[in-house]
Amino acid sequence: MRTASTNGCPALKPELAPEPPLALLHSVQLGQSDDEKIAAIRHHFAKIMEALGLDLGNASLRDTPQRVAKMFVKEVFSGLDHRNFPAITTFPNTSGYGEMLVEKNISLHTFCEHHFLPIIGKVHVAYFPGQRIAGLSKLNRLVKHYARQPQVQERLTVQIAEGMQEVLGTADVAVYIEADHLCVASRGVEDTKSSTVTSFFGGRFKEPLERQGFLEAVK
Ligand SMILES: [Zn+2]
Repeated sequence: MRTASTNGCPALKPELAPEPPLALLHSVQLGQSDDEKIAAIRHHFAKIMEALGLDLGNASLRDTPQRVAKMFVKEVFSGLDHRNFPAITTFPNTSGYGEMLVEKNISLHTFCEHHFLPIIGKVHVAYFPGQRIAGLSKLNRLVKHYARQPQVQERLTVQIAEGMQEVLGTADVAVYIEADHLCVASRGVEDTKSSTVTSFFGGRFKEPLERQGFLEAVK
């Protein structure tokens, strides 16, 4: 179990706040404001475009460095900032529901950290409620938060699972991701048919019956 961090997460009680993602640990951006990050990325992205021979005087390209910088910081990589961790309220499990709860077909859009190209797919998650349950949209928000970081599918799978375990207070969590990587489809081997499947089975989901039940529910 990872130790919880109190680092800048106003949305959760300190003991529930997951630690920053691995990708963040060596980052220098912790002390920077969004505006500072956007200014730095705008500057460097303009250099990349110039190196490619693009004419930044062209009206269509002129604002691209600013657009890309804002998109990186405020949207597609906003999950790098731990302060953007979603507020996830949980409720007492008053109905005593103890069967598997499956949330399937959660849309996944992220970027591979090796090529900065999109990874597009579906995430299926499940848990056995213990003392507490979460609002269903909160699981989508958790997936979206971790997807908004440059990723590898393996780490994303574990982050979602561990995030659910910490927020829901149970080890009985399963995650299944099937995704297409554009870095495989559009370059390199240029394979548009293959997809990548990753999974995580915690607690009761390590048992064959529970695991099978989950896999049948998401197929
Ligand atoms: Zn890649």
